[in-house]
Amino acid sequence: MSSAKKEIQQGEAVDLVIVGAGMVGLMLATALRHSGLHIVLVERAETEPQLSLNRDCRVSAIVQGNVHILQSLGVWQLLQDKAGLMTSMRIWDGQEQGGLRFEAAEMNEDKLGVLVENAVLIDAFKQVLKESMDVELLCPEQIASITWQHDGVGVALKSGRNLKTPLIVGADGARSWLREQADIDVFQRDYGQKGIVATVKPRFSHQNTACQRFLDTGPLALLPMSGELCSIVWSAKHDRADVLLALSDENFMHELNLNLGGLFGGIVEVGKRAAFPLQGQLARHIVRPRLALIGDAAHAIHPLAGLGVNLGLRDAMVLAQEVMDARKFDEDWGDISVLNRYMKQRMPDVLATMASMEALHQTFAAQWPAWIKLRGLGMKAMGNAGVIKQLLMKNATGLNISVPHTIE
Ligand SMILES: Cc1cc2nc3c(=O)[nH]c(=O)nc-3n(C[C@H](O)[C@H](O)[C@H](O)COP(=O)(O)OP(=O)(O)OC[C@H]3O[C@@H](n4cnc5c(N)ncnc54)[C@H](O)[C@@H]3O)c2cc1C
Repeated sequence: MSSAKKEIQQGEAVDLVIVGAGMVGLMLATALRHSGLHIVLVERAETEPQLSLNRDCRVSAIVQGNVHILQSLGVWQLLQDKAGLMTSMRIWDGQEQGGLRFEAAEMNEDKLGVLVENAVLIDAFKQVLKESMDVELLCPEQIASITWQHDGVGVALKSGRNLKTPLIVGADGARSWLREQADIDVFQRDYGQKGIVATVKPRFSHQNTACQRFLDTGPLALLPMSGELCSIVWSAKHDRADVLLALSDENFMHELNLNLGGLFGGIVEVGKRAAFPLQGQLARHIVRPRLALIGDAAHAIHPLAGLGVNLGLRDAMVLAQEVMDARKFDEDWGDISVLNRYMKQRMPDVLATMASMEALHQTFAAQWPAWIKLRGLGMKAMGNAGVIKQLLMKNATGLNISVPHTIE
């Protein structure tokens, strides 16, 4: 055996390696920061925000259930001044009158969720982690090679450092490098759409209301940011999206106002636009011996209900608790029996959310006149049916999903 290989097999012992310091990888490290475990977080590049009216154009609607968790972890306190509150939500259809309106007060909550710029959330996680002696954030850094061994994983970093860990976690996004290294395939669903994002300014106050209109070309969301600004996520087929992206600001604003029906007095300013291809995918396996996938590396969904990162944050909390439980009972947390417990807890939530995103997409993508009529009637009926509405709201706020709030 060459001496280099021997070094990898021995390596510097650490307790956990996380690949990817996006919102989900950072959440896992934050949840475990007081555990006494030596955690190494490997991030290939500093995320530079893409600014639009001076705000990061990548935003996330964080549901109230996850806001409570961020509060318990001490993260919310660092970003609350920069978060847009969503106290009500309006959903309506492009063709019909039927629409839904949810109010936080109906759930006895002060808000349904918040809208946060991704850069703000990432920064808050990093501030919290700065105080931890046990979490090392290596950035920019990448893994050169991985050696799967029965008692651990050898991780050779590009900088030349060699680590050995009982568990490696892939939080490296939808195109996960680690998932590829483990030869894990994905089920894919190409929506044939792009999501156009930008910051915009309405003439009047957004009244902390999140609005979503299902157009025949795809959903268009107008989400309240802190201050007077809003964020849009406009999903459209590639050719339509390319046309919208090529318009001048003035013409884009005109299209936006036509499609939003002059909401909040109309949009009067629009920032730089960016676009992201929209794909749904699910890894065939989210665990393997000594490997767990979390966040978009495990599953990516259409942003139409703004739930993608919310699923990932819940993955991180459940995995953190399983690692801690295994440690308490002197189990090896890279063992597949421990990782299967994480997988079994997360799959119902992940599969149910993916199925409802697909159902919503199909419901609003179909354009047969009879279906459109039925859809409008259905929305009106739902607007009046207290029980069904309560159920929908519970899902949209994540308040009914059992996830640990602190890791013990
Ligand atoms: C248009 C749009 C709007 C959205 N809106 C919402 C919303 O409102 N609410 C919501 O919940 N979700 C939303 N989502 C989904 C959400 O953005 C994702 O679910 C979320 O970013 C996933 O986080 P993550 O940390 O798993 O992955 P990522 O955000 O992709 O982070 C992965 C990290 O890993 C790093 N990395 C990658 N490869 C390597 C490597 N080889 N080595 C080291 N590091 C690596 C990357 O640099 C990155 O920092 C939206 C998505 C889109 C496209």
